[in-house]
Amino acid sequence: MSEPAAEPASEPVSGPGVERKPRRAALITALLLFAAVGVILVVTTPWNPLPGHVPGGRATPDPALDFTPAQIARSRAFDDALNPVAYGRLVVGLLVVLALGLTPLGARLIGRTTARVRRWPLRVMVAAAVLAVVLRLAALPFGVWGESVLRRYGLSTQSWPAWLLDQLKSLAVAWVMWTIVLLLLFALVRRFPRYWWTGAAAGAFVLVVAGSFLYPVAVEPVFNKFHSLPAGTLRTDLLAMAERDGVPVEDVLVADASRRTTSLNAYVSGFGSTRRIVVYDTLLKSPPARIESIVAHELGHAKNNDVPAGTMIGALGVAGAVCVLYLLLSSPRLLRRAGVPERDGSGVNGGDGPADVRTVALLLALFAVAMQIGGPVQNLISRHIEARADVHALDLTRDPGTFVSMQHELSVRNISDLTPNGLERLLWMSHPAGPERIAMARDWARMHGVPAPPPLNRR
Ligand SMILES: [Zn+2]
Repeated sequence: MSEPAAEPASEPVSGPGVERKPRRAALITALLLFAAVGVILVVTTPWNPLPGHVPGGRATPDPALDFTPAQIARSRAFDDALNPVAYGRLVVGLLVVLALGLTPLGARLIGRTTARVRRWPLRVMVAAAVLAVVLRLAALPFGVWGESVLRRYGLSTQSWPAWLLDQLKSLAVAWVMWTIVLLLLFALVRRFPRYWWTGAAAGAFVLVVAGSFLYPVAVEPVFNKFHSLPAGTLRTDLLAMAERDGVPVEDVLVADASRRTTSLNAYVSGFGSTRRIVVYDTLLKSPPARIESIVAHELGHAKNNDVPAGTMIGALGVAGAVCVLYLLLSSPRLLRRAGVPERDGSGVNGGDGPADVRTVALLLALFAVAMQIGGPVQNLISRHIEARADVHALDLTRDPGTFVSMQHELSVRNISDLTPNGLERLLWMSHPAGPERIAMARDWARMHGVPAPPPLNRR
């Protein structure tokens, strides 16, 4: 190797006494950051999105009120068809990434594939590419299976070549993101072997914020084309509603989602100058009042600054996770388990400790575990934030009848799970289920003296 060793070989860097101080500092920083995240979440999450007394008591979510037996049966069948795919992908994906990262398998794979690459940044890029491809290949059978289920239920409009192209694009996006993160991380680890976590935690915070800002303009266009909602009554009405709501919206964008799916969706992403409200083109065939109901929900996200707030909280959590990462990577036992030789000052592939490119497999395994822990927390918070956006939509449109028919249409068209069980809620549900959203609209109506929308089955 041509690069100088990260620091003078004479300084003992792996002795227990030397590592104790930065380890203690990293632990305290992680605890402080996680405590901050916990306090912010407890204080700012709208645990009760519709506070107040509902005359006659709160409605109980009941799919049978608004969905026909055939719709309920179809939702069940779809859920049964998709569950083995989803759980299979989760379990196999975790098993593969853990097998690569927590045994010497991944380190060996990286060692072999980067053996002829001399410079460390290139080695990082090759390692990221190899692991991204291996993980994607492990997920591929489940992707094909899931896509064929979507096709059977008429939700997918994609040809297999187009689907495959999407897979390749998302592989490329993942590789670019991992490469950027890993290059920055390794540069810090090599330069500051004992205090890299301070820079990495700060850098991770900045990266998450920058990523959330750049994602709408850099990544979303890779998968979809966007155009402004054309001039007309709908556009005028939507912008007028945003104006009335006090949320400045420059534009409403339409995504060409119909070339991939028949499902309906809308979302807000980005913040500051990249903030946008996006509706799927599949939604435009719905009656204008229903589209207004959806956009009113998205305005709720904008008004409550859900994206920037979520980004900041996520960034703090990621910074805390980086401190934990340092604690883990400075454990010789874990490095040995991952097949990464401890630092011996020789600098080359052999003996760089955490700075060894072969730790990439371990890093991805730890990342996967962190995501798995963070996901359910995120879903729990998200469900409350989504309910708050629903309340905002109802406050703004004062039209619970249209809200209910829109939620009904969303659930039917997307074949949503009408009665998710506890595990499904924990793992996948970022929104309340359709019947819950409908029940809350009825509560809102009763609270505000507006006639509650009658059950759709009995109209
Ligand atoms: Zn939402």
